[in-house]
Amino acid sequence: MSDALPLGATIGILGGGQLGRMLSLAASRLGFKTHIYCPDPDSPAFEVTPHKTVAAYDHRDALARFAAAVDVITYEFENVPADTAEFLAPLTPLRPGANALAVSQDRLVEKAFIAAAGIPVAPHRAIRDAADLAPALAELGGRGILKTTRLGYDGKGQRRVASLAEAEAAFAALRPHPLVLEALVPFEREISVVIARGLDGATAAFDPAENVHREGILATSTVPATMSAASTDLARGHAASIAAALGYVGVLGVEFFVLADGSLLVNEIAPRVHNSGHWTEAVCITDQFEQHIRAVAGWPLGDPTRLADVVMENLIGDEIHAIPNGLGPGVRPHAYGKTESRAGRKMGHLSRVASKTPRK
Ligand code: AMP
Repeated sequence: MSDALPLGATIGILGGGQLGRMLSLAASRLGFKTHIYCPDPDSPAFEVTPHKTVAAYDHRDALARFAAAVDVITYEFENVPADTAEFLAPLTPLRPGANALAVSQDRLVEKAFIAAAGIPVAPHRAIRDAADLAPALAELGGRGILKTTRLGYDGKGQRRVASLAEAEAAFAALRPHPLVLEALVPFEREISVVIARGLDGATAAFDPAENVHREGILATSTVPATMSAASTDLARGHAASIAAALGYVGVLGVEFFVLADGSLLVNEIAPRVHNSGHWTEAVCITDQFEQHIRAVAGWPLGDPTRLADVVMENLIGDEIHAIPNGLGPGVRPHAYGKTESRAGRKMGHLSRVASKTPRK
C-alpha cells in the first residue's frame, strides 16, 4: 500500500460539527493528527484537536495554508462549496472527491446519477417555474413532496402538498429554485446502508439500519432492520454500485424507502459519515468513523461485522440530559460537547446494546 499515509500524518477535515469531532477522535486513535477547518469559532470539533483554522470557506489564503498543513483533506458535510473543493483538490488529495459533492448537493443531479446507475429512485419532476406544477402534480397522482434541490437537511426545505393551491403556496415559500416534486412514496419503512470504499476500490458495508424520523430529524436507528435477507443484499448491492459509480473513497450513507413488496427506492445519499451509522461505534469491530479515516488515509478497510443488536437514539435539544441521568446497563452514551442546547439541535446520542439475535 504505497499510497497509505504513515502514522503521524495529518488529516484535514472541513467542518467542525459532531461528525468532524467523531472523525477526529477516530483518527487520533489510529495515530493521526487532525486539523479542523470551520468558520464557526464555537465548533464542537475544535475541542478535540489543537490544530484548527477558523475562516470562511471562500478564504483562499486560509484554504491554501490549510492544504499545505495537511496530508489529505476530507469533509463532514455535503455542502462544502464547489469552489472550495475545486480550489483545494489540486493542492492536496480531497477524499471523497469533488464529484461526490457535486452529485449529492443537488437532488435532481443526484436522482439522475442514481437512476443512470440502474438504481430506482422515487418518481419525481423538476419544477423550474410555477407553470410546471399542474402537469407534474397530475402525473404524480395529485400530491407529493415539494423540495428544494439544494441546501435542504433534517426535513428543512420541503413541504407536503395535496392540491395545486398548496403546491403554488409551497413554490412561493421554498427557496432557492428550481425545486423538485417527488411522489409521496407509500413506504413500509426507511432504512440506510453506510458503506465504505477504499482507495483500492474494496468496499465494506455495515448492516442496514431501520430509521425513524420525528419532525424530519432522525430519532432512532435500529439494527437489525426488519427486512428480508434478499432486501438486505439488494440494499448493500445498490450502495456498492453507487460508491463504485462515483469512484468514491470514504464512507457514504445511502437512505432507502422499503416498499411493501420488499423493493427499494433510494431517497438520498450523503458523502460522509452518517447519523444512521452512529451505532457502529458501540457494536462493530470497526466503526464508521475509523472506516472513513482508514479509507481516506489509503489504509485497508476494517471489518464491519456487528457483534450485538442495537438501537441508537439521537438526543435532540434538552434530551441531552439523558446523559448522565438515563444511563443504565447496556447504554453507551456519546455527547458532542455543545454548550448551547437549542430545540432541534443534535446534542448527542445513546446506543442501547442488546445481545445479538441469531439471523433466521
Ligand atoms: P429527506 O430530507 O428527503 O431525506 O426527507 C426527510 C424525510 O421525509 C424522509 O426521511 C421521509 O420520512 C420523508 N420523505 C421524504 N421524501 C419522501 C417521499 N418522496 N415520500 C414519502 N416520504 C418522504
